[in-house]
Amino acid sequence: MRLNPKSQTAICYLLHFAQPYHHALHYLGSAVDLEARLARHAAGNGSRLLAAVAAAGIPWQVARTWQGGRDLEAQLKKRKSNPSLCPICSARGTASAPAQRRRGNPPPRHPANHPFAEKNYES
Ligand SMILES: [Zn+2]
Repeated sequence: MRLNPKSQTAICYLLHFAQPYHHALHYLGSAVDLEARLARHAAGNGSRLLAAVAAAGIPWQVARTWQGGRDLEAQLKKRKSNPSLCPICSARGTASAPAQRRRGNPPPRHPANHPFAEKNYES
């Protein structure tokens, strides 16, 4: 049990799902021990959404991390623009469509046949 989490460096992380689960394509969270949290998520624990995603057999990857805890997580969630925060979605959006088409169009859905074709971990 961590009595004073603020004394440790928390990490905000953005998970990108290989396929959308209902309306969700991302999960944004924060953790002090990121690796332990990701291991819990991989086992289907720690988040209802990720439990459902795991049960549906959808793989995910860490798209991006930030230094910061719950305050930053709340700020990022307020923006409600996870796809624009996601380097994987951003890269695919700009690579496949001219800039003027991006407004008003949803980002292209990812083909399901290469869920882990690229590893985009940010160290
Ligand atoms: Zn994404």
